[in-house]
Amino acid sequence: MEFLDELQRRRTFGIISHPDAGKTTLTEKLLLFGGAIQEAGAVKSNKIKKGATSDFMEIERQRGISVATSVLAFIYKDKKINILDTPGHKDFAEDTFRTLTAVDSVIVVIDVAKGVEAQTEKLVEVCRMRNIPIIVFINKLDREGKDAFDLLDEVEQKLGLKVTPLSFPIGMGYDFKGIYNIWGKKLNLFSEENKQTISEGVEFSDLDDPELDRIVGEDAAETLREELELVYEVYPKFDKEEYLNGALQPVFFGSALNNFGVKELLDCFTEIAPTPQPKMSEERLVDSKEDKLTGFVFKIHANMDPKHRDRLAFVKIVSGTFKRNAPYLHVRNGKKMKFSSPNAFFAEKKEIVEESFPGDIVGLHDTGNFKIGDTLTEGENLNFKGIPSFSPEHFRYVNNADPMKSKQLQKGLIQLMDEGVAQLFTLEMNGRKVIGTVGALQYEVIQYRLEHEYGAKCTYENLPMHKVCWVDPEDAKNDEYKDFKRTKQRYLAKDKQGQLVFFADSAFTIQMTQSKYPSVKLHFTSEFK
Ligand code: GDP
Repeated sequence: MEFLDELQRRRTFGIISHPDAGKTTLTEKLLLFGGAIQEAGAVKSNKIKKGATSDFMEIERQRGISVATSVLAFIYKDKKINILDTPGHKDFAEDTFRTLTAVDSVIVVIDVAKGVEAQTEKLVEVCRMRNIPIIVFINKLDREGKDAFDLLDEVEQKLGLKVTPLSFPIGMGYDFKGIYNIWGKKLNLFSEENKQTISEGVEFSDLDDPELDRIVGEDAAETLREELELVYEVYPKFDKEEYLNGALQPVFFGSALNNFGVKELLDCFTEIAPTPQPKMSEERLVDSKEDKLTGFVFKIHANMDPKHRDRLAFVKIVSGTFKRNAPYLHVRNGKKMKFSSPNAFFAEKKEIVEESFPGDIVGLHDTGNFKIGDTLTEGENLNFKGIPSFSPEHFRYVNNADPMKSKQLQKGLIQLMDEGVAQLFTLEMNGRKVIGTVGALQYEVIQYRLEHEYGAKCTYENLPMHKVCWVDPEDAKNDEYKDFKRTKQRYLAKDKQGQLVFFADSAFTIQMTQSKYPSVKLHFTSEFK
C-alpha cells in the first residue's frame, strides 16, 4: 500500500471519561467489533482500586495493566484504528493530558444517570483548548437516567460544547426499546436476543411508516416522532467540517455493556473522524503527508522487571515512515539513533514492526535517553510543542533517608521525572528539592519505585503550598522584576528545564503578587511562549 493510503486509513483517538462511566467496557466492545479480541473481559481496567490490596501493590498492578492497554489497535472496515489509553483516576490526570497531545480526536463517555462529572469537565476543557474533534457517547441507557434532552443541555452547558444528536434513544431503563440512528437512518431494537450480538438494525428512513407503531408500540412510536421533530428543530444539522474544527460535537446513545449503540458509533466514527493531523513545532507546522519522518515521545513506561531498568518510550509518528534500523536524529541531544526492535501495538500484544506510519504509535526500548516531549527526525532540527507541565497541587520536600545511596536517589529521581511521574523543583535559596504532584498517590509510587528499582530511600516533608507559577517577566532587567526576585526569594525555584517558578501559598497571594508586579506574568503551565 502507498504511503498516502496508509496515512488516510489511520484513526488515532482516545476515550475519556470520569471513572466508572464505561470507558473500559466501550473499548472492549470496539475491539470485539474489530475482531481484535474474541470475548468480553479481555481488556483489563486500568483503574486504581482502593482497599483490597495495599496501595503500592495496587499501583504496581495498575502499571502492569497500563503497559498492556497503552495502545490498542485494530482494523475495522479497512481502517487502522489506534486507541490510546487514558487513565481516569484524577491523580494521573497529567498522563492523560500528555496522551491527548498524541490523539487526533476523542470520544467522551458519559453515564446517563450521573451526567457530566468532574473529571470529564477537566479533560474536555483540555480538548476544547486544542480544538480536538469530540464525539460524545451517552452510556448505560439500559438503566434509569436523566432525560435525553436534559442531558444534552447539561453537556452543552457544563462542557461548553455545541451538540447535535446522531442517534436517539427510545425509552430508557426498564422501558428501553432501542435507538434510532439519525446518522444511518436505521432503527435498532434492544432485545434479549440482541444483547450480546452485533445487530445491523432495520432500515427506517420514513418515520411515519405505521410499521414503526407495530414494532415499538404506538405510544413509544409517537414519542419518538415528537422527540425527533424537536431534535431536528433545536439542534444544528451535522456538519463534518464543523466537527473537525472542534465547533460541533455529535452525540450517540447506547449501552456499552449490552453492545448496544456501539456499532452506530463506530460506523460513524470511521467515516468522520480525522486522519492524522498536522502538528505545530517551535520551528514550523509539520504536515502528516511530508515524507520525512518526524515524531515525538508522549509517554515513557518503565520496565516492570526491576532487574532491567530499560524503558519503553512511546512515539507518535507525525509524518513520514518510521523504519526499523534506520538512523534518526534525537533532536534534544543531537545524536543519531537506530532502533532494531521498534514495537507496534495490537489488541493485546506488541510486535516488532518494519514500518509504521503517521497516526501510529511505536514503542522504543530506551536505556534513559528519552524524556517526554523529545522529538525524532531524519536530521531536521525540529521541536514539537504542546506537552506543557501543569502546576502541581501537592508539594513535599524530598529527603535522602540513606546517605550511602545518594547517587542512586539522584538518578532515580531524574529518571522518574523524565517519565513524567511528577515534577521536581530546586529551591533557589538553599538547593532543597521539592516534588510536586497532581495527586497524593504519586508520592507512594515514587517512594516504592525508588526503593525497588534504584535501591534508594527517601522521606518526605510536607510543604503547604497552593500552586507553582511559571515566572515570565516582560523585562528581565527592570527594577520591578529585580524587586520581585528580592522580596520573593524564599519562594523561588527552578523546574527541571531551569525555568524560574514561584511557589504561592494561596490564590490570594497570586492575586496580590500579580497586582504588585504587573509586568511579571505568572502562568499555571510551563508552556506559555
Ligand atoms: P471505566 O471506569 O470508565 O473504565 O468503566 P467500566 O467500563 O469499568 O464500567 C464501570 C461499570 O459500569 C462496570 O461495572 C460495567 O460493567 C458497568 N457498565 C458499563 N457499561 C454499562 C452499560 O451500558 N450498562 C450498565 N448497566 N452498566 C454498564
